[in-house]
Amino acid sequence: MTNSDKGFFDIYGGKYVAEVLRRPLDELEEEFNKAITDKSFLEELSLIQRDYIGRETPLLFAERSTKILGGAQIYIKLEGLANTGAHKINNAIGQCLLAKRMGKKRIIAETGAGQHGVATAAACAKLGLECTVYMGEVDVRRQQPNVSSMEMYGAKVHAVTSGSRTLKDAVNEAMRDWASNPDDTHYCLGSALGPAPFPDMVRYFQSVIGREVKKQAEERKLDLAALIACCGGGSNSIGFFTPFIDLPSPRLIAVEAGGIGPGIGENASRMTGNASREGILQGYKSRFLLDEDGQALPTRSISAGLDYCGIGPQLAALGKSGRIEFTSALDKEALDAVKFFARNEGVLFAMESAHAGAEAIKLAPKLPKDKAIIINMSGRGDKDIFITCPVFRPQEWKEFLISELERLNENLDIHNAKIMGE
Ligand SMILES: *Cc1c(COP(=O)(O)O)cnc(C)c1O
Repeated sequence: MTNSDKGFFDIYGGKYVAEVLRRPLDELEEEFNKAITDKSFLEELSLIQRDYIGRETPLLFAERSTKILGGAQIYIKLEGLANTGAHKINNAIGQCLLAKRMGKKRIIAETGAGQHGVATAAACAKLGLECTVYMGEVDVRRQQPNVSSMEMYGAKVHAVTSGSRTLKDAVNEAMRDWASNPDDTHYCLGSALGPAPFPDMVRYFQSVIGREVKKQAEERKLDLAALIACCGGGSNSIGFFTPFIDLPSPRLIAVEAGGIGPGIGENASRMTGNASREGILQGYKSRFLLDEDGQALPTRSISAGLDYCGIGPQLAALGKSGRIEFTSALDKEALDAVKFFARNEGVLFAMESAHAGAEAIKLAPKLPKDKAIIINMSGRGDKDIFITCPVFRPQEWKEFLISELERLNENLDIHNAKIMGE
């Protein structure tokens, strides 16, 4: 099962939206299906993937980690080497290229921690499109580095003040904008969820990861036992898994955020958690973390990208069928994995990707040495210093921030005036 059946993956998916969004969604579906059978579109996409994103990304043999763990050979797909530092650019570039082909001038996007906003802003800058990113006011305040990047790429960041002022509200606001401006605007959704055709479309643009991995593994004659990816909305995992879904092996393992434990509000385990329920939210049917009244529950994770109450419908369906195995990693296990791969491979995982790394550390020793497992490192960890440093080096980090603050308070104006030659 790769493509949806009229927008459905088993019982999940669909297009549960207000009447005003039907036409833009139908138009998008039609144009997407045309584009992916058009040779010139595919050539343009492949060229920009090569020269701008930097594909293909390497498949690294994690030699020292393999030796230390003493089991299956561990390989890492270095998706974090893609331009802007994570897999999200694959989807952003694909959708923006499609939007341009459809004659749209303006792109809107939602963002939580800001990663998808940054990718979309960069893609728009590359393709000469106007970009507005909806972001909850709470997130704007706590994710200033990403807000700065978006603005650097020329995007307008719109702080959303409704509801809980976080990702869910940003999605609602973006949908509202799209409904009012369907003719000149494309809504670039950031993960493999939302109403059809987004789950099919996002998977399509992310499956470049899996196609490369399949070729790279065949060239090296790897005997694959398992592929492991972290799972927020599900875009990096489904893209990584796609070419293998209809095959009997390898095992496909998706790792959710286990947060600080199994209690309600302590994690973002939509498939394996205590509050996992079927529901319809933000235009699609899937599994969510909901209370008894069907309201979204608060979630928690050290990794911003996995901290969401919903999961893509195709992932929910493949979890139900058993083709994808779901598990989770705790915040602490993910932090340990960041350290492990940084020290043993010289590779700094994003906190999200480190959830997949943590599962590999558990699994590899249980498998024979002639088998291989591949971790998708969906992003690199430079962006996470504000999360990792307070944990790993609390005192030094605090002193650094205080001294920075003093520097800014005392002589920032003089400093800037000198640079500007005033
Ligand atoms: C956003 C993000 C994720 C989670 O999103 P998916 O759609 O599940 O892939 C994972 N890793 C990184 C680095 C991210 O930025």
